[in-house]
Amino acid sequence: MNDPVIENLTHILDRIARACEASGRPADSVKLLLATKTVPADRIRHALLAGQTLIGENKVQEIRDKYEALSDIPHQTHFIGHLQTNKIKDVLKYNVSCIQSVDRLELAEKLEQRLAFEGRHMDVFIQVNTSFEGSKFGVAPEAALDLVRQVACCGHLHIKGLMTIGLFSADNEQVRKCFRLLKSIQSQIISENIPGVGMAELSMGMSGDLETAIQEGATIVRVGTAIFGERIYPDSYYWNEGQDNS
Ligand SMILES: *Cc1c(COP(=O)(O)O)cnc(C)c1O
Repeated sequence: MNDPVIENLTHILDRIARACEASGRPADSVKLLLATKTVPADRIRHALLAGQTLIGENKVQEIRDKYEALSDIPHQTHFIGHLQTNKIKDVLKYNVSCIQSVDRLELAEKLEQRLAFEGRHMDVFIQVNTSFEGSKFGVAPEAALDLVRQVACCGHLHIKGLMTIGLFSADNEQVRKCFRLLKSIQSQIISENIPGVGMAELSMGMSGDLETAIQEGATIVRVGTAIFGERIYPDSYYWNEGQDNS
């Protein structure tokens, strides 16, 4: 079977480059994160061997399953899924360099506890629910600043920016509103000058809306389908897990 990953990757890099150019942004101001949920390790390998360096997984189980097979290729792994507190110990076993989905104080505090115990630090993004859809995780926009202040007090967590999943809509202007909202929250947080809080990164934009996200200031776009093809599982399988209140 001829794996189209390389061809698709070339096309995505081209889309990113064009969007940067159209927005008057330098081509290297946007990083590509490969959203690799459900993608087998050998297909991820192709993309990494072609020069990609950043992948994002939604489930600890999948990180674990692919860890060995990818361990000989230099790359970074970000966690981009809903993180249940009972998976914290596990997610820290696999060399994850950033957790993009910190969306509640309880999670931050338990992460902080475990990292302190292990004598380690972790980069994190605060995930904001900019689409106001109940089915997606993320702190409410109006509560984001407070959460940032609280997470800033966790000495083993280093906030580097914000993450959001835009509205699923064919109406581009509705999607754009989500990205603008994230950008405005970023600006507000920056203006607060909170010690120890980095706000350089905006992780937003996926296969269908990366151009809009780049226009609105994305520094990381997370692309799955447009590189690896359609997934068998609906995204609700990844996004609608019951909230854990443990
Ligand atoms: C699956 C996923 C993506 C990628 O979505 P595509 O539409 O397949 O590009 C991005 N971000 C998150 C959090 C995801 O779960």
